[in-house]
Amino acid sequence: MPVFSHPEFDAHEKVLFGHDPETGLKAIIALHNTSRGPALGGCRLWAYDSDEAALTDVLRLSRGMTYKSALADLPFGGGKSVIIGDAKTMKSDALFRAMGRLVESLGGRYHVAEDVGVTVADVEAMGQETRYVAGVPAGGAGDPSPATAWGVFCGLKASVRHKLGSESLNGLAVAIQGLGAVGRHLCAHLQAAGVKLFVADINEQAVQQAVEAWDAVAVAPSEIHTITAEVFAPCALGAILNETSIPQLNCAVVAGSANNQLATPEDGAALKTRGILYAPDYVLNAGGIVNISHESQLAGSSYDKATAFAHVARIGETLAEIYRLAERADLPTSEAADRLAEQRFKPATRQAA
Ligand code: NAD
Repeated sequence: MPVFSHPEFDAHEKVLFGHDPETGLKAIIALHNTSRGPALGGCRLWAYDSDEAALTDVLRLSRGMTYKSALADLPFGGGKSVIIGDAKTMKSDALFRAMGRLVESLGGRYHVAEDVGVTVADVEAMGQETRYVAGVPAGGAGDPSPATAWGVFCGLKASVRHKLGSESLNGLAVAIQGLGAVGRHLCAHLQAAGVKLFVADINEQAVQQAVEAWDAVAVAPSEIHTITAEVFAPCALGAILNETSIPQLNCAVVAGSANNQLATPEDGAALKTRGILYAPDYVLNAGGIVNISHESQLAGSSYDKATAFAHVARIGETLAEIYRLAERADLPTSEAADRLAEQRFKPATRQAA
């Protein structure tokens, strides 16, 4: 399995393969770039089709964390880990303790948090073997979703200000796809700001709650992206912005929390061509990780919600900078975000030990 010639290899500083025969642990930790500080990123447990698929994922995701941390102004670099296996059958305290020992072997160059297939309790199990765990109750930050939603709200406001020249959201319409942990908190902020909400979810109960709590208008999940509104906020699925959906959009701004919203990099250019302002997802949805970065074990002082949420609010200023760069350089905002991030970390200078 090639690593250095792998298409997703991007001068990663370190790629560590770990195996524990007793628990069946097969894991990969990738540190992409630690020029801003130790790597911070989640651990994903997934039934990959092959070891190569796991390597592809960890190389890609760890690089993404470098960009995300840089644009969120965090003193952290980019890293990620994957465990190969089925979350339904292979989870055990011993497995996560073995993973904790692997994290510990990096001596603090990588801090692990939860991700798909790995719960906060699983990270706490890793914490029996390493102190380099993040996003656990002991750190004080709690559930990341309120912070993520606050960041989306602040970034959405900055996007409306840039595109429509409006300081206020009062009287505007926002179409929200997905009323989960983030979507619900976002609804509350938007309604308090005087926004008319259009909502869709495959969970009918969640839709009913939104109709009752925030006077939202229910829309079919297949149609929510077509609603005429100032903003479309995807808060459910990846790859929602694609060659089919982009021509159907009837909004001025796309700003939502979902990860990997662009199906392909070219879809960023397609949005620009349509004159729709796209808030790059990894910038807009960084509130959760910003909040975690203020936890006691990472920040070195006890967690303070007001300080953490003020940091999250800076997502709006970062987006404004990205939009100015995109205009100056005539770039899609997705590319401008990457360029700005690259100005904020140094290429790897030190080779992995
Ligand atoms: P969640 O699982 O709590 O909510 C997702 C919601 O989307 C659910 O209510 C689900 O029923 C709904 N949904 C699924 N398919 C749908 C469809 N086809 N149409 C409409 N609704 C659909 O997830 P979440 O924590 O609210 O996160 C939402 C998105 O934001 C995800 O893409 C997630 O990766 C991303 N994100 C979340 C956080 C966070 O702090 N929770 C941080 C960064 C990014």
